[in-house]
Formats: sequence, structure tokens, C-alpha cells
Amino acid sequence: MCGESTALMASLEGEVGEPRPKDIHTTERGFMDLPTNLNNVETWANVPSIINKGASWFASKGTAKSKGTKIFALTGQIRNTGLVEVPMGISLRKIIYEIGGGSATGKKIKAVQTGGPSGGCLPQKLFDLPVDFEALTEAGSMVGSGGMVVMDESTCMVDVAKYFLKFLIDESCGKCVPCRIGLSRMLEIINDITEGNGTEEGLELLKETADTVSMASLCALGKTAPNPVLSTIKYFLPEYEAHIKEKRCPAGVCRELIHYSINRDKCKSCGACFKACPHGAIIKEEKTYKIDDDKCQKCGVCKEVCKFNAVNVK
Ligand code: SF4
Ligand code: SF4
Ligand code: SF4
Repeated sequence: MCGESTALMASLEGEVGEPRPKDIHTTERGFMDLPTNLNNVETWANVPSIINKGASWFASKGTAKSKGTKIFALTGQIRNTGLVEVPMGISLRKIIYEIGGGSATGKKIKAVQTGGPSGGCLPQKLFDLPVDFEALTEAGSMVGSGGMVVMDESTCMVDVAKYFLKFLIDESCGKCVPCRIGLSRMLEIINDITEGNGTEEGLELLKETADTVSMASLCALGKTAPNPVLSTIKYFLPEYEAHIKEKRCPAGVCRELIHYSINRDKCKSCGACFKACPHGAIIKEEKTYKIDDDKCQKCGVCKEVCKFNAVNVK
């Protein structure tokens, strides 16, 4: 057996190498107990500049602990979408308003999700936070894959948490129980909340399960997957409470909790909604139109086509 293989075998048996620190997870170690697979293109892309200009040049950008620059994929309800490279430590506000150009819809920006699908959703009041590894993690999000999704006030934060949870369930490899089963249980509870069947006990169980999944999962996917749920509960609790206690979706997004109607004072009887409704749910009356609740499928087409803002969603 060659020396390297002998060392490997001995290492596996715990005879050589440093003892594994308890706080370093085995999924972060490879051959000889070291990181052996660096497949992040962004990291590799920094190497030529560091070789050409020196490590101190790279380290002069960024913060004390998070050095250099970071590329974010800016997307969502924002004017300028695309990839942006910024120095670590820049504020979320600068990225969203100066680089991103602010809201694309004219509506107030409500939140930003950083770090990809398992990142947390941060509210307006935290937009002066410096974008670095430590500050984002402390706030319940992360730098992660560099995703940055901007959301305006028409977004339901409970629905956002549900959307990312579904995505992460699909991504879970299923190897460990907390991630495989815990995430699905969380989705069941969040489905209940968005469908008007949520309870306060359910919300407590959701938080407890999210904490357990975060603590007990094997790899980073499971450990971070509860972030969208935990951060939206932390920063947007009144939205969860409206769904649970009042059976109401304040943003008018969760289908089971919303109701469409036509405001007779605003309606100009143009007939656009009548022609566009795919379910024949709009009834023509003498001077106006009205919606048949039994036929309405809450698809939102009437609201989209009405140029007079005469369709109410509550
Ligand atoms: S935490 Fe990682 S290892 Fe465990 S099921 Fe999820 S993806 Fe798989
Ligand atoms: S599209 Fe608007 S204005 Fe036209 S009939 Fe429908 S509700 Fe009235
Ligand atoms: S929400 Fe959809 S189904 Fe309901 S009335 Fe409007 S267009 Fe028709």
C-alpha cells in the first residue's frame, strides 16, 4: 500500500491527523480530513486578479472579516436586474436603490431575500445592514449563492416562505430524517396557514420544527432550509397572524383567503373583464358588472385587464 493510502486508511481509523473539532461538520471535509473539492467558479475567477495584483490589494476591499468583492444576482421587482459585483460591506440599500434603481412596479419595496432559496427575507428596516458574511448570518439570512430577490408590498411573505420551502424539499437528497421529513411537515403547516386552516399552535410547531431541522440536518442544505420560514416569522409576524387569526391575506395573494369584487363607483362598464374572465364568472347587469362568487376561480385576470382599478381584492 502506498504511503498516501496508508495515511488515508489510518486517518479513517482515527490514528493520524488532528482530532475532528466537534463544531466542524463531516460534510465539510474530504480527503485527509481537508476540503478537497473547490467547484465555485466565482472563487476561481478571483485567483488571476489576486496573483496579478497581490493578496493585499484584494484584502483592501471589503470588511475586516469579509474580504474582496462579491457577485450578486439581483432580481425581483426591481428596475435593474442582472449580475452586480460589489465590495463586501456595501449596504443593501445601495445595491437595491443606487445600483438596482429601486422598485420596478412603483410600489414600495418591502423585503429582500439574500443568499438563494435557503436565504432569509430581510425587511426595509434592515436595508442599511452591511452585506457581509457575518452581518447577514446574524440577521437570519446569508450571502450563500449570491441570490438577491427584491420584493414589493404586493408580495405575501407567507407565500414566499411556502414557495422556497417547496423548492428546497425538491432539492433535499433525503439522506437524513430532519431535512427529509422535517421540511415536509413544515410545508404541511404552512399550507394550512395559507389555506385558512392555520392555528397558533401550528405556528409554534412550525418554529420548533424549523429550529430542529436547522440544528439536526446533516449538510448545509438542511441546516439553512428553514431560513425563509424563520426569517419571515421573525420580521413579518403580523402577516402570519392575519392569515391565522383573521383568515386574511393582507397582500391579496393566497387564493383561499381572497375575494374578488367589482367596485361599482369606479366601474366604467367597459366590459373588458367580462370578455377576459376565463371562467364566465362575470355577470353583466344593467349599468355595471358583478362577480359570481360561486364561479370565480380567483385567477386575477379581471384585475389585470381593468384599466380603471375597479376590481377589488380583499
Ligand atoms: S440535510 Fe443534506 S444530507 Fe440531509 S437530506 Fe438534506 S440535503 Fe440530504
Ligand atoms: S374592466 Fe373594470 S371598468 Fe371595465 S367593466 Fe370590468 S370592472 Fe368595470
Ligand atoms: S378572478 Fe378570474 S375567475 Fe374570478 S372573476 Fe376575475 S377573471 Fe373571473
